[in-house]
Amino acid sequence: MPDSALAPTPANAYSFSRVKCFHQCPLRYRLRYLEGRRESFRSIESFLGTTVHEVLEWLYAERMRGASPDEPALLEIFAARWSAHFDDTVALVRVDDREDNHLRLGREMLSRFFNGTFTRDRSVTIALEQRLAATLATSVVFTGFADRVGRTDGGRLFVVDYKTSKAAGNGSDFSEGLQAPLYAACALGHHGEREALAGYHYLRHGFTRWQTVEEARARELFEKFLALVREIELASEFPPRPGALCAWCGYNAGCPAAEVPEPLSGGLRKAEALGRGLPDAGGEGRQ
Ligand code: SF4
Repeated sequence: MPDSALAPTPANAYSFSRVKCFHQCPLRYRLRYLEGRRESFRSIESFLGTTVHEVLEWLYAERMRGASPDEPALLEIFAARWSAHFDDTVALVRVDDREDNHLRLGREMLSRFFNGTFTRDRSVTIALEQRLAATLATSVVFTGFADRVGRTDGGRLFVVDYKTSKAAGNGSDFSEGLQAPLYAACALGHHGEREALAGYHYLRHGFTRWQTVEEARARELFEKFLALVREIELASEFPPRPGALCAWCGYNAGCPAAEVPEPLSGGLRKAEALGRGLPDAGGEGRQ
């Protein structure tokens, strides 16, 4: 039996990622969130994002405890975490890609952040990787983890989310429109404030885009998210929705609808080499 950490997600707990997954591909949603099946591989882009987030958390945690971390220490931590956690489940989806490209990109993003943002940052950190939650209806809870919650040097409450994506986002629901603003909406309740800033910091580009969330907008955001959850609750079928994301989907080796072009077949080949199609539900856990 899998342990409880690997069980399917509780039926009433909805994160932004969970709702986004349903809207991208209902079959992937069913496999991951309802059946709790582990994806066969994780892309190197996802691995890079996770590692960079961990290192930024370490950086601000060091400052919180009164230390003054420098750039060499930051890059050393990055290299150490990279080699400690890189394993054979990490896939280079682009067949002409190399691990070195992503290591270099990670170092560049962290150096840019350290020199362009961290050294000038006079804000105060309240919490790192803070779990935020809000009850939206009797049976629906919004939940998520904010990368960093703090106060500006002028005392304004903020929530910031780090992005390692190539392109900056736009205002649509599954780009910049919902995730950080929902975290800011939760933070209003947690900290008893009337207004908070929601930011996306784009690590490849070195800038932060801010939005203001006040109480009326917080209510609108929760209503919008609840409407998206209701769509999921009403779903009786979970059809595949093949497209550009199939190459990065860890279920692609067992999915009859997968569309994976040869230049992007690195994940698919890895899943096949590992002998993984779709494992039995319950025998594998949630990613
Ligand atoms: S391979 Fe494509 S269609 Fe199949 S579950 Fe994954 S995203 Fe959906």
